[in-house]
Amino acid sequence: AKEQGGNSFSFFVPEMHQAAIERSHLETDLRGALEKNQLMLYFQPKVDGNADIQGFEVLLRWCHPQRGIVSPADFIPIAEATGLIVPIGEWVLNAVCQQLRQWQNDPQRCHWRLAVNISERQLSHERFVQSVRDILKDHDFDQNLTTKLEFEITESMLMKNIEHAVASIRELNSMGIQFAMDDFGTGYSSLNYLKMLPLDCVKVDQSFVRDMLVDQSDAAIVEMVIALAKAMQLVVVAEGVETYEQHKLLVGLGCDQMQGYYYGKPAPIEQITSQQSLKAIA
Ligand code: C2E
Ligand code: CA
Ligand code: CA
Ligand code: CA
Repeated sequence: AKEQGGNSFSFFVPEMHQAAIERSHLETDLRGALEKNQLMLYFQPKVDGNADIQGFEVLLRWCHPQRGIVSPADFIPIAEATGLIVPIGEWVLNAVCQQLRQWQNDPQRCHWRLAVNISERQLSHERFVQSVRDILKDHDFDQNLTTKLEFEITESMLMKNIEHAVASIRELNSMGIQFAMDDFGTGYSSLNYLKMLPLDCVKVDQSFVRDMLVDQSDAAIVEMVIALAKAMQLVVVAEGVETYEQHKLLVGLGCDQMQGYYYGKPAPIEQITSQQSLKAIA
């Protein structure tokens, strides 16, 4: 019987760290989240200097029956470690294609773009390019609709298998998908990636934007990234804009687009587009 030993699991349970137990519960629950329809998408506006919406970043949320809304910071790492990010990512892309189709014939909305976050685990998956191609085909996407779709990648995720990543990015880009370098400036070889990859956009990391009014180094970095992006003819987006003062400074520096709580927190799309004005700040 169990008491006689041999059950190494019960032996180790008291030793397990609380966080590890938590994580294994979340992992079990995450396995069922897709089929139980618990995942949903929030949208956060990206605006130009006039606060007109140019598009949205799509951010996952998990509506857990007991825990409420779980942040992607807590479940994306689990999804990556378990490989669940692959089916979850396909689900996200399907939903995003559906949304772009819905806006296609609406003159006020057809220019909106949608940006999706792509993990290292997804990009390095051997079938990633093919699965994207299949999904675009399922939704009858032509080149024009495809250019409304943007993938946000980070520098750190490129480190592992750079050749495969670069090849996939080039192929997806040739289909019309735009690429943005996310969290720019926080990785190891930012400038090298800017040179190597067919990028359309860089996103200044929010850590630089946060303190740029009080910290001269942060201000200098933001200024430098905007100037560099312009010289390379890339669209530059500043993330994490929370105040009017930050907005004003970024517009003055010539930043193309801004994103942050100042214009709108991530929310379900109906909540954003049901507002009377389609401007992010009325
Ligand atoms: P990220 O791509 O850097 O996304 C920006 C994060 O900053 C989001 O956190 C957003 O809610 C938050 N944010 C936006 N504006 C402000 C602001 O003004 N102030 C502050 N303090 N924060 C702001 P969120 O939604 O919790 O997402 C966290 C991360 O999870 C994302 O970081 C992204 O790396 C990942 N993620 C989210 N959705 C997906 C997804 O569908 N697939 C993958 N692979 N990763 C995702
Ligand atoms: Ca992002
Ligand atoms: Ca970011
Ligand atoms: Ca980030």
